[in-house]
Amino acid sequence: MSRSADEHADLLASVRERARRFADEDVAPHAGEWDRAGELPRAIIERMGELGFLAGPLPTTHGGSGWDNETFASVYEEIGRVCSSTRGFLAVHTGLVSQCLEDHGSDAQKARWLPSLATGERIGCYGLTEEGAGSDVSSIATTARAQGDHWILDGSKTWITNAGVADLALLFARTNEAGGRAELTAFVVELPCAGFTAEPLGVEPLGHRASDHARLVLSGLSVPDDQRLGAVGEGFKIAMSALDHGRLGVAAGAVGLGRGCLEEAVTHSRERRQFGQRIGDFQMVQADLADMYSEIEAASALVGRAARAADAGASDVTRLTSAAKLFATEAAQRAANKAVLLLGNRGYGSGHSVERHYRDIQGLRIYEGTNHIHRLIIGRSLVGKPSD
Ligand SMILES: Cc1cc2nc3c(=O)[nH]c(=O)nc-3n(C[C@H](O)[C@H](O)[C@H](O)COP(=O)(O)OP(=O)(O)OC[C@H]3O[C@@H](n4cnc5c(N)ncnc54)[C@H](O)[C@@H]3O)c2cc1C
Repeated sequence: MSRSADEHADLLASVRERARRFADEDVAPHAGEWDRAGELPRAIIERMGELGFLAGPLPTTHGGSGWDNETFASVYEEIGRVCSSTRGFLAVHTGLVSQCLEDHGSDAQKARWLPSLATGERIGCYGLTEEGAGSDVSSIATTARAQGDHWILDGSKTWITNAGVADLALLFARTNEAGGRAELTAFVVELPCAGFTAEPLGVEPLGHRASDHARLVLSGLSVPDDQRLGAVGEGFKIAMSALDHGRLGVAAGAVGLGRGCLEEAVTHSRERRQFGQRIGDFQMVQADLADMYSEIEAASALVGRAARAADAGASDVTRLTSAAKLFATEAAQRAANKAVLLLGNRGYGSGHSVERHYRDIQGLRIYEGTNHIHRLIIGRSLVGKPSD
């Protein structure tokens, strides 16, 4: 959807304002309670549907609003400022699932699934990771065997966000060996269905405690061929292109998390008095705040650049998105670390938002490619392939 610069600026400002109000009024007051309960209420997902956040970047033809990446990144940032579990839901549901179906689905598949994903009537999950296949996606062991006009999937997936509440699962399985490497294919599974079980992980997560994470067991799961996404063997490419969307959401969410930490640290530095003055009047405290502010602004600028590169279809979008995810999540981690120190015992106690941010940020450094892997993506893209 093409818009003039003024229309784009108006859209960005109004969507950001809508997301900010949602974050401050509907999410922030409850985020700690959801974290303790280990669950996001379905009502908050429905509210994101009503506000257009689940549909944002999808085209109007499929129930979406046609928002550009820069505009949608502002939604991730505002929600990430107060709750990474809610922001994480959105990055998986919309970034990894809906936008992937929009990019790679046939017209019939888009018409079948996107409208219900756009409203939140259906929830999506993205199943790539396995016990033996984390960073090394090519070692996926889940298999898909052709049987008539169906595929039979067997294997397991782990740490799959939204899996216990999902109505639609995007799954990746090995369909063949091609030159010693796994040939992967993508499938969409409508849930519930026989042969698909979501089990508890059996561990208490460090962060994102309100998110739903599950282990999937796929046992003789029969998937009709018309639910194959893209061509046989295109699964790796499809999985990676979905991650370009999701990673932008993670990067923007990290900027928000860093801002949330800075806001708390500034407020506390103005209010807390020790040695007869505000702690914010100590230059060492000001230096910490200045570092947090500068790094978050730099991260925000980089996320904006990556989002605009995605909007322009630039050739270096993958590298820029990796750089944005790497820099923003590391900057946010430093901000969370400083915020806990600056708030003293208050930031150390459970129930304070900076304590939750401090735990949550670790997840952002791991999922959708660890930050080691993003350094590899950036480095390899700079020096080219070995034969170059
Ligand atoms: C909160 C959370 C939510 C998640 N949600 C999902 C989801 O919805 N769907 C999904 O499919 N997965 C999900 N995951 C899984 C996540 O994507 C993987 O954990 C991640 O890809 C890393 O894999 P791994 O944990 O097996 O680590 P490993 O790949 O085993 O890596 C272990 C360490 O080795 C390093 N390493 C590995 N290879 C290299 C290399 N070549 N060079 C340098 N260092 C290397 C890594 O950076 C890391 O530090 C989630 C994980 C978390 C924590």
